[in-house]
Amino acid sequence: MSDRKARGVPPGQWLGVLGGGQLGRMFCHAAQVLGYRVCVLDPSADGPAGSVAERQIVAAYDDTQALAELGRLCAALTTEFENVPAASLEHLAWQRPVRPAAAAVAVAQDRLREKAFVRTCGVPVAPHAAIATAADLGAVDAALFPAILKTARLGYDGKGQIAVADAAGLAAAWQELGSVPCVLEKRLPLRRELSVIIARGSDGATAVFPVSENEHRDGILAVSVLPARITPEQAERACAIAGAIASRLDYVGVLCVELFELAGGELVVNEMAPRPHNSGHATIDACVTSQFAQQVRALAGLPLGDCRLLAPAVMLNLLGDIWFDAAGSERAPAFDQVLGVPGACLHLYGKAEARPGRKMGHVTVLGQSADEAMARAARVAAILGMELPALASAAALMAEPTGPAGTM
Ligand code: ADP
Ligand code: MG
Repeated sequence: MSDRKARGVPPGQWLGVLGGGQLGRMFCHAAQVLGYRVCVLDPSADGPAGSVAERQIVAAYDDTQALAELGRLCAALTTEFENVPAASLEHLAWQRPVRPAAAAVAVAQDRLREKAFVRTCGVPVAPHAAIATAADLGAVDAALFPAILKTARLGYDGKGQIAVADAAGLAAAWQELGSVPCVLEKRLPLRRELSVIIARGSDGATAVFPVSENEHRDGILAVSVLPARITPEQAERACAIAGAIASRLDYVGVLCVELFELAGGELVVNEMAPRPHNSGHATIDACVTSQFAQQVRALAGLPLGDCRLLAPAVMLNLLGDIWFDAAGSERAPAFDQVLGVPGACLHLYGKAEARPGRKMGHVTVLGQSADEAMARAARVAAILGMELPALASAAALMAEPTGPAGTM
């Protein structure tokens, strides 16, 4: 029903977003560029999206009165994070088109369902076992170790995960995670981490961004390189996997599929996110259409935009850590110097308080070549006192002499 209703939500109308974090904030920016007004529903009054949205409803995600108010105001609704209760999306869908649909979000909310679903698409996932009860602990295949125990639900940025070397450590790890339903996943030898961001319209049309190559630190995305340094055949395979998943889910909106590339080149799906993704932030500055603009277009039933890359890019995530020196004293990051690096595009999310591990912003660094973008990104990292991206090759670091900023 929602597809017919949503076709052609014209600019000037209200779009609604569940969640008020940085993804919601960047959704607002993109929607406003196209002349939409945005209402954000979030339990917290001072989130990054609330301050840029035209309206904010401060309420719990399952507050039926608040949902009804959002539904009355907005012509179509989306979510900016996957842990919004699927029931709330379903509830809203009685009133208005909701994209992605609750059913698709529900698959991504549960690692076990997600893995089973990906397999039905003919795509491999890491060998794993469900740990639902204490009885499951003893029945685990020894071949799964060394492994990672992950909570089936609500995990993000490496939270809700414990490395487990062998069967002896499993029970304690499960207890530490609260004895909630988990998935025990074989730790795979990764050659590379990749992600594909795909947009799919209600008419089934798709648009796929160039594959991104990602480096994580402590379970949190640190660096993304766009485009990934893989062969065209490998990129085609990665995009085909994302396309198969999106179409089988009958997905409408922006979907991110995280992939592992193994030593032999085999691609394995790690997980998916039913929304724009951190690894796609470079699309804002580096592509004709950003992932957030695609989210707006798919939501409003407009034609999807061109995903073409305009320049090679490296995105550095800015965590709260860089607001502190080695002794733990607060300091102001030298953003003025960052802005002096050619091709550096700084995005800050307006969060009042910096905390270690908290996502405060990102810098996308563009170059004429991939090496130039990487060399500039290495300069930005050095200015901010961040660890250099491991993805940066020594050759790339030599590629550019110190530029006009002269800060290094
Ligand atoms: P989150 O939901 O927190 O992003 P992920 O499942 O994506 O959780 O795990 C975070 C990171 O941990 C991955 O990007 C990868 O670097 C590492 N990781 C997760 N699962 C595996 C695995 N099976 N083998 C090797 N590394 C893994
Ligand atoms: Mg992940």
